[in-house]
Amino acid sequence: MKVLVATKSGQGGASGDYSSTVEGELVTPITVECCSPESCGCGRGFPGLASSRATTTAMVVSRDDIQPNQLREAIASSLRRDGWLKGLNQAERRELIQAHFSAIEQVCAGFAVGTVVGRNNAFVSRRAVAA
Ligand SMILES: [Zn+2]
Repeated sequence: MKVLVATKSGQGGASGDYSSTVEGELVTPITVECCSPESCGCGRGFPGLASSRATTTAMVVSRDDIQPNQLREAIASSLRRDGWLKGLNQAERRELIQAHFSAIEQVCAGFAVGTVVGRNNAFVSRRAVAA
């Protein structure tokens, strides 16, 4: 399936770019933003599901080894580890995990494999296409 992964490709192409993720790890376009997302940078980041760090550049890739249930589990595992599922009932947990899953699916549906994307709050746009 198509998923979003952290990439250093395109880093430096926009002012304020940062990459603290592990190259190639799964990322999500959803994050909780603080009250100053522009200066802080959280409004432009894709959180890494493994590292819990973020990057401003993500790539759409096709991974035959990842099935939808595995992506859901990776999302759930990341949210659980970082404490985002605490205090939620089972239905709320499922809803939060599905929100991440759907956002990843929607972004991937909108861009060809190899496209590097950036995020600006709720908007994800094309930054470059890998050669
Ligand atoms: Zn912030």
